[in-house]
Amino acid sequence: MEKKVIVIGAGLAGLSAAMSLAKSGVFIYLVSLLPARRSHSVCAQGGINAAISDKNGDSPILHSFETIKGGDFLADQPPTLEMCLNAPYIIKMLDQIGCLFNRDENGDIDFRGFGGTLFKRTAYVNSSTGQQLIYSLDEQVRRLEEKNKVKRFENHEFIKLIKDKKNRARGAVFQNHNDLNIFALFADAVVIATGGLGLIFGKSTNSYACTGVANSILFTQGMKLANPEFIQIHPTAILGEDKLRLISEAVRAEGARIWVYGDETKEIEFPDGTMKKCGQSNEKWFFLEEMYPEYKNLVPRDIAAREILKVCELGLGIDKKNQVYLDATHLSDETLKKVETPLNIYQKFRDEDPKKVPMKVFVAVHYTMGGAYVDWPAIDDVDRDKRFRQMSNIEGLFNIGESDYLYHGANRLGANALLACIFSGLVAAKEIPRYIDKNSEELKEESPDVKEEIETEEKKKFKLLHQRGDENVYDLHQEMASLMLNNVTVKRNNKDLKDTLDKLIKIESRIKNIQLVDKSTTLNQSYIFARQFPYMLKYAMAITLGAIKRDESRGSHFKKEFSKRDDKKYLKTTLATYNEKINDIEISYKDVDVRHFDPIDRTYQKQQKIPDIKNYKNFEKVL
Ligand SMILES: Cc1cc2nc3c(=O)[nH]c(=O)nc-3n(C[C@H](O)[C@H](O)[C@H](O)COP(=O)(O)OP(=O)(O)OC[C@H]3O[C@@H](n4cnc5c(N)ncnc54)[C@H](O)[C@@H]3O)c2cc1C
Repeated sequence: MEKKVIVIGAGLAGLSAAMSLAKSGVFIYLVSLLPARRSHSVCAQGGINAAISDKNGDSPILHSFETIKGGDFLADQPPTLEMCLNAPYIIKMLDQIGCLFNRDENGDIDFRGFGGTLFKRTAYVNSSTGQQLIYSLDEQVRRLEEKNKVKRFENHEFIKLIKDKKNRARGAVFQNHNDLNIFALFADAVVIATGGLGLIFGKSTNSYACTGVANSILFTQGMKLANPEFIQIHPTAILGEDKLRLISEAVRAEGARIWVYGDETKEIEFPDGTMKKCGQSNEKWFFLEEMYPEYKNLVPRDIAAREILKVCELGLGIDKKNQVYLDATHLSDETLKKVETPLNIYQKFRDEDPKKVPMKVFVAVHYTMGGAYVDWPAIDDVDRDKRFRQMSNIEGLFNIGESDYLYHGANRLGANALLACIFSGLVAAKEIPRYIDKNSEELKEESPDVKEEIETEEKKKFKLLHQRGDENVYDLHQEMASLMLNNVTVKRNNKDLKDTLDKLIKIESRIKNIQLVDKSTTLNQSYIFARQFPYMLKYAMAITLGAIKRDESRGSHFKKEFSKRDDKKYLKTTLATYNEKINDIEISYKDVDVRHFDPIDRTYQKQQKIPDIKNYKNFEKVL
């Protein structure tokens, strides 16, 4: 019998899984809100990491160590190691399917530097890497579509998982965004590849489709979330009325420098704990370069974002506002060409030429390290063949890309996300046929009857369209987003976090009073937003509760009252479970798998000695 899989999401993760599964003979329903080429992955600018050659001393093992250290030792080490070991093969595959990576003078793929490393290991296509990768993978999927191995549904949103009597994922319910029609698809397994959740914070560098809603729906259906409290704040974005636009780390990798005017009457705490003068009055103060002489403007994002905020809090931001300069004016034309996209974006939205005047930037919500909890049996685990990588705690439900939690720990290093998306997609594509074979007898049983479930969803639709009340869903969203932005980003403290959670609970009690002006079933955006909003709110609660419970500072999670990492208590993955009976979220912890590298202090003031890898013999190739 032909194997069938539903892949939900057509960004880089979903496309990788769909391509690889379809090539291995599995029939794919590829369902997404946005068309593949408009998925958020298309915005990725800077590049994709892989330690290809060792001519400068780099290696995949070093890549994995720096990724683990970048994530403040919260990432489980076996999956991160395997991702880095597979990275060179992934770059080769991308090259073979036509991704036009920049080349060096010898015609080899060129690599640029990026945050959290002193090696150049980021392959790139000027500053539109995501677009080129999406086009290359989408082309492959289109070929398979031509051969009737893939059937696409665009403009369709996942609204519910279908489970069989044994609680296995067997299909999903979708809603067509054009006419709000609700229908179900059935399969042997389901893959979620629905990306990030920036909209929970209102303005972010993410696209509006990054809501986190699919994962949140699944959360309320029993899927565990892991490390929800770890949200990446990017140091350099342009402020905008509508959203925040990223100025990629690639711009700093190519030599742009962050500065403000110094003030020698003020002092700031340096990373070694000493208080030092804030540069010289009225002179450019390149504070990151002074604080981190080795990594300079390419310290990991959590650190750069905190230093920028600290400088602005001292009143040293441009015009005493929350803004610092990002200066690319000294770069050569040839270099500027490599980062043209973000510079053009800046010119378009700020009406100033960044080649002539320094850009004004500030920190912005950018990425979610946490996500669906997924399993990762390591190569040398005795039960490796009994378990399935990338499978959530719901059997047959796989989760990949930015919507899983697996590879980045407490902070993601730049250019590792695209790698993780493609890698996790390829991993899932290897595991799923094995899962289906192993359960083939039981999966032969008829698909569950979903008539009742569809009727329930139809009733919910009718109710939401026609309910009466005095709440506006966009106002409620704004309230939630402001709370999250103010209290659950760069700096957190328990008082404000608890206050935020209380207020989120109060917002939840007002949802029943939302009234929609538009009651039509054609292109009704406000209905869709109102259907999504309760799930954004639920995810916001999981993020906040995870942050409340973690009394330490690690990577992107910083609490002033607990300013140190506490490995004794919190070298653990947070697990959030939804308790339907009491509509509450429960937090528990699972030890982090640190079998390859002992956690060390995480410093970027100077280079640290890289420890030898332990317990490593071999790895599984995904290609
Ligand atoms: C501006 C910007 C620049 C970046 N640059 C880089 C970079 O240079 N290097 C790097 O490594 N990382 C970068 N990142 C991060 C990286 O781009 C993302 O993490 C990655 O592209 C996410 O891919 P994905 O496939 O997981 O999700 P997405 O690309 O977000 O795809 C999600 C898919 O799911 C669909 N979807 C969502 N919800 C639903 C639903 N409920 N039902 C059905 N479909 C749904 C969407 O329509 C889409 O097709 C950048 C991020 C930003 C914001």
